[in-house]
Amino acid sequence: MGDNTDIKILPVLTLRGLAVFPYMVLHFDVVREKSIAAIEQAMVGNQEIFLVAQNDPKADEPHIEDIHEVGTIAKIKQILKLPGNNIRVLVEGLSRGRMLEYIKEDPYFEGKVEACRDPEMEKVNLEQEGLMRSLLDLFDDYVKISSRLAPETLVSVSTVNDPGQLSDIIAANVLVKMEDKQDILDAIDITDRLERLYDILSREIEISRIERRIAGRVKKQIDKVQREYYLREQLKAIQKELGEYDSTVGEVEEYKSNLESANLPKEVKEKAFKELEKLSRMPSASAEGTVVRNYLDWIIDLPWNDETVDNTDMKIAAKVLDEDHYGLYKVKERILEYLAVKNLTKTMKGPILCFVGPPGVGKTSIAKSIARALNRKFVRMSLGGVRDEAEIRGHRRTYVGAIPGRIISSIKTAGSKNPLFLLDEIDKIGSDFRGDPASALLEVLDAEQNYAFRDHYLELPFDLSKVMFLTTANTLDTIPRPLLDRMEIIRIPGYTEDEKLNIAKQYLIPKQLKEHGLPEDGIMMSDNTIRDIINYYTREAGVRELERQIAAVCRKAARRVAEMGTKRVRITSSNLRKYLGIPIYSYDRADEEDEVGVATGMAWTPVGGDTLFIEATPVPGTGKLVLTGHLGDVMKESAQAAFTYIRSKAKEFGLEPNFHETIDMHVHVPEGAIPKDGPSAGITLTTAMLSALTEIPIRRDVAMTGEITLRGRVLPIGGLKEKTLAAHRAGISTVIIPHENIKDLEDIPDNIKNKLDIVAVKNMDEVLKLALVEMPEKSKNE
Ligand code: ADP
Repeated sequence: MGDNTDIKILPVLTLRGLAVFPYMVLHFDVVREKSIAAIEQAMVGNQEIFLVAQNDPKADEPHIEDIHEVGTIAKIKQILKLPGNNIRVLVEGLSRGRMLEYIKEDPYFEGKVEACRDPEMEKVNLEQEGLMRSLLDLFDDYVKISSRLAPETLVSVSTVNDPGQLSDIIAANVLVKMEDKQDILDAIDITDRLERLYDILSREIEISRIERRIAGRVKKQIDKVQREYYLREQLKAIQKELGEYDSTVGEVEEYKSNLESANLPKEVKEKAFKELEKLSRMPSASAEGTVVRNYLDWIIDLPWNDETVDNTDMKIAAKVLDEDHYGLYKVKERILEYLAVKNLTKTMKGPILCFVGPPGVGKTSIAKSIARALNRKFVRMSLGGVRDEAEIRGHRRTYVGAIPGRIISSIKTAGSKNPLFLLDEIDKIGSDFRGDPASALLEVLDAEQNYAFRDHYLELPFDLSKVMFLTTANTLDTIPRPLLDRMEIIRIPGYTEDEKLNIAKQYLIPKQLKEHGLPEDGIMMSDNTIRDIINYYTREAGVRELERQIAAVCRKAARRVAEMGTKRVRITSSNLRKYLGIPIYSYDRADEEDEVGVATGMAWTPVGGDTLFIEATPVPGTGKLVLTGHLGDVMKESAQAAFTYIRSKAKEFGLEPNFHETIDMHVHVPEGAIPKDGPSAGITLTTAMLSALTEIPIRRDVAMTGEITLRGRVLPIGGLKEKTLAAHRAGISTVIIPHENIKDLEDIPDNIKNKLDIVAVKNMDEVLKLALVEMPEKSKNE
């Protein structure tokens, strides 16, 4: 090829978005008719064709002005007919060519093309040599950075020694943009070509670097998100496969919106969302999922920030309290004071009130009424038999089936964080190996601590400081000391007959009429009839039994109304039996005969006062004292003292000085199931024993209470009010009390005092004079 240029007449194929470099073999499909005609023409000749790019790759029929000047002279190596008149051609670039002039436009372009071959190798100058090396280095970099080229390309490129060929191969492999390719094609001069390529390649490398950096940054972010996304999708697929998948996603969304709208404190919300996060990763049917779901339900349901607005109007409060309960002045007064203080100080701190009294006196129902008066929600929790700390404070969630303790459960029931919370039967709280519920309760009641009460299940502090706690108890004896210290005691001792009558008339009967669907005047019952119910059908300090009997009357009356169409039912003392059966209790003890060796005592019990009988009988023996009837130690000692007193005074009572040597004294207190203790039966024991020994009967209508000393002095006792009420209930007419208890008579309602003959005594002689039918004569043996 001696000559660098020569001119040929060649058919022209315009290329769209494609450039063919010399030494390059490639195939492309030809669609346009003009192009196919050009190829056909070439095949007729020596298979050479001029391939040149058109300016606008989109133009189907480019004009001559729209075609580049420099292109490639190529040899068609192969043609393949494709369906639909298309042709695939395989061409090999021979050299650059420059269009000198077109001589034909139709049916194909044809023109005079000047072939521009690169000069021979020997002519490589130093400048070109240098550029070549730099270019190779650059290409090396490019291959490393760009992922588009196989590393082998570098090897094959580095074996090329011809600078023109080298730049064309590199350009063919690297360049993407049509302008760049054309730019290189246009550079017929080799030095120029090397320089242009160097510039383009440097730019490409810079772009690649930036691309990589950005990709790296984005990838890092995307990677994490995608990784989790893929894992979760995979998990879902697995769960679906196992049949465990359901709409956990929907569920999680639902929890999310419920938690958002639940008005939770910050700490609670954070914890809840952490749990929710856990849930979203669990298979929905898993046991653990259920645990978390339960937990979230609790969190959503608890009134973390829900409060009711207190009624601060004292007049309304007083009215409500009076509406619901008769009497109970002390309680009502205390509550109003409490309210007044609260209105002034705006805090709820203060002692916790504890209502102490026998069953059925209205402790629970007054608490309910207080809630109504204050406009608070009411919840009640019975502490009877609570032995386990976990009942108060809950179990940790690691326990199977764990739930919160009863405090938190009750708060949930209340639905507000400031309910009136009644802790019923606080005296029945126990403690054993499962922990001490009382100490947990202390924390609940302590105003300094309860703003952040921790339930084991919730593991979150709940604010109990706005709760108004009230407690009830039957007795103070069994309340743990620290708890007792925290409470202010209000005693509700039990009602007199008159009070019961009023309660029945004003509260119980109207209430029962309503409950049984009877009109307000559905029953006609005189006061005396009500008194009969109180006396013959009930024996209690409170009015629970009375309410039950009244309910029974109403039930029967309702039946009459329904069956016989009676409008009003009249209940009298004489037809009361038809409604309530035969009387359960006999009222009038005075009717019964006076007996030898049976004395009536009065006892205080947690369920109010009661009368009890003490029986004494001498049996042949050796001077022993036999005590039965489940007596406590103090009572046993009291019996010893009584026996010794009698022995020491044997002569005065007309007994043999050593009467005891031939007998055993058996003392029995019936109703053995009820534990009895305390010293207050001293004088009763003495009276019973002496009566048994002297065979002088004891008056049946006399009841007594008092401790005895060995010298026969009578010492004071406690619970006088309950005891006298009980005596009155039992139909006693004379009550013997220790002289020092006179001060306590103040508490006893006047109508009781009027009906009972209450005698205060200082010594045993006075007791005997009142209790025995006659006084024993002094021993005749003297
Ligand atoms: P406690 O809790 O002391 O055992 P309750 O509160 O259960 O007693 O009272 C028993 C019933 O007697 C209730 O129906 C209550 O309304 C009624 N009651 C008790 N005391 C009174 C009272 N002073 N006035 C009206 N009803 C009363």
